[in-house]
Amino acid sequence: MVEPVTRERDEVGPEQTREIPTRMRALVKPVPGPGAVLTDVPVPDPGPGEVLIRLEAVSVCGTDIHIEQWDAWAAANVVTPRIFGHEMAGRVVRLGEDVTRVALGQRVAAETHLVDWTCYQCRTGRQHVCQHYRILGVHADGAFAQYIVLPESNVWISDTLPAEVAALQEPMGNAVFSVFVEEVAGQSVAVLGCGPIGLMSIAIAKRAGARRVIATDIRSERLELAERMGADVVLDAGAVDVVERIRAETDGDGADVVLEMSGSESALHQGFAAVTNGGRVSLLGTHAHPVTLDVSSEIIFKALRVYGITGRRLFETWYQTRALLEEGLDLSPIITHRFPLSEYRQAFDLVAAGHAGKVVLLPQED
Ligand SMILES: [Zn+2]
Ligand SMILES: [Zn+2]
Repeated sequence: MVEPVTRERDEVGPEQTREIPTRMRALVKPVPGPGAVLTDVPVPDPGPGEVLIRLEAVSVCGTDIHIEQWDAWAAANVVTPRIFGHEMAGRVVRLGEDVTRVALGQRVAAETHLVDWTCYQCRTGRQHVCQHYRILGVHADGAFAQYIVLPESNVWISDTLPAEVAALQEPMGNAVFSVFVEEVAGQSVAVLGCGPIGLMSIAIAKRAGARRVIATDIRSERLELAERMGADVVLDAGAVDVVERIRAETDGDGADVVLEMSGSESALHQGFAAVTNGGRVSLLGTHAHPVTLDVSSEIIFKALRVYGITGRRLFETWYQTRALLEEGLDLSPIITHRFPLSEYRQAFDLVAAGHAGKVVLLPQED
């Protein structure tokens, strides 16, 4: 632990009159290797086209666990020292020059892909796979801190949402993109893996008019959450024949839509086996190792459409996500824990163990 940083005035008031300290607490990966330190760093200054945000809520993502534990992916992608964390919400407290769209005091979330807006993909509506994208909290300083500077172009105004829900729009965008990459109304949907994004996908599919949503996981607490998010059927993948049960729940046809959210190779094969001929599969769960597929029998002869899902569409997915939340989609069952930033260790351990839903860190609390 470090000495507490300069405290701000406690009074509530317009963000414009709030004192902005010169130093702040931040969770930093100081050098390559496992671990992180909570330390005292300068509050960044917004440059032209950028805004300074006082962070209110930052949720913990699997990516943050990879960075904290320093796996091969982190070693290949993160340059230290780096403030990490990216699923964020806060209020705009300072504007750089030439900022026109965002106003002081607004609550905002962040699109976490920092893109160049000029490459082939960016100029053809596919900014989420920009050739030069950098990810907040991975390739640029992130949000496990009291303040962050963001380009105005990455700010998503979220005045209608509570801070922790605003922060969850980023991972929820992954779920929305996975579910909505094709029509889902009237379709049977199998969600394989009920981590936070799988759980969100259940609620999104139900609200969008899916016919039957079947959820699988190997942890009982996650299956309970899946039921609370609206799954019609939950299956313990460790105890039942998932493919047989999904077929039985879909008149023997198999699911129209499979959302693979687990990154488990066995679930991937189950998904290709459980999807109906001519159906579609959205792949979001990432795999630590190469997997072996029988492409002919698992994909080609079933005439499947398989989508790799990464990030969110800028900003189509954000509009869809906000609309779902404003229309009453309730994420509250997914938010299982809240901690001050200083208790990050406990938060990370819970997420790493897979026993939590979403864990939210509160950077302004001691
Ligand atoms: Zn994330
Ligand atoms: Zn680009």
